[in-house]
Amino acid sequence: MPLNLITGSIRRIAGRLGDLLSEAHTPCPICQLTARKSAPDPFLRSALPRDAKLLQLCRGCASAIPWITNIACAVCGRPDPCPDCRRRSSAHFILNRSAVRYDDAIREWLALFKYRGDERLVRPLADMLDIALIRLDHELRNRLPAHRWDAIIPVPVSPDRLMERGFNQAEKLASLLCARRGVPLAELLIRTRHSEKKSLQSRFARLQSVDGLFTADPEAVSLFISEWLSRGTAASPNHPPVPQRSIRLLIVDDIYTTGSTIEACAAALHEAFDSQAPRLPLDIYAITLARS
Ligand SMILES: [Zn+2]
Ligand SMILES: [Zn+2]
Repeated sequence: MPLNLITGSIRRIAGRLGDLLSEAHTPCPICQLTARKSAPDPFLRSALPRDAKLLQLCRGCASAIPWITNIACAVCGRPDPCPDCRRRSSAHFILNRSAVRYDDAIREWLALFKYRGDERLVRPLADMLDIALIRLDHELRNRLPAHRWDAIIPVPVSPDRLMERGFNQAEKLASLLCARRGVPLAELLIRTRHSEKKSLQSRFARLQSVDGLFTADPEAVSLFISEWLSRGTAASPNHPPVPQRSIRLLIVDDIYTTGSTIEACAAALHEAFDSQAPRLPLDIYAITLARS
């Protein structure tokens, strides 16, 4: 065998060995242990970019993710029969889809990210949310031809909470998705105050506590509408633009409990859009990381 072929093969083998060794020494992005990596699920591997952190989990963490694969409520995406959506007479959003159930593992990972600001958690969590988006897109493409998102809107936190925590968890997750999927991030909502800790409230109190909690920023909405019109149609003073399709917005949050937060955000958006551009049809959807 010629010498250059032998050295080429040696180099390839050494490269593969190097890859294996460095993979073996990369800690799991969630538990930080250098445990054996899981073989990523074929669906996750095909859906996510090659360098996605979710593909680098150890076996324990990968198998702990409580994926929602069967949807029992077509509105809120819950995997079990759903009394909340049946009770609701009208909703300002079309549907919500969540990536995972809110179980002990997800509660712990979200707490590390939200309350301790553990940056290492944001990417694997955003990958999980991305799976919810990929599944929702697949569902919508079957129903709506030429489906695309006009903007992703994170649920805002109050200024006090932002000061205390230093970041908005929904905004962090949303901006990673926007960058990956090429959808604009639009911060159209303002949170007027922060509600009490939801886990301490009754269902009734939870539904009441979001009343008037969100409002849409009129200037941001007006700018958004004019940009959307100039992009979507050839407007001229004599021929006002005729909407060809609805504006399609996607609200992003970390947890869906009763849906009252998403509903309050969607209601605030509808109110602002309807007052500024009553002829523009507006469709609002939501994705959340976890469904409790
Ligand atoms: Zn792990
Ligand atoms: Zn439901």
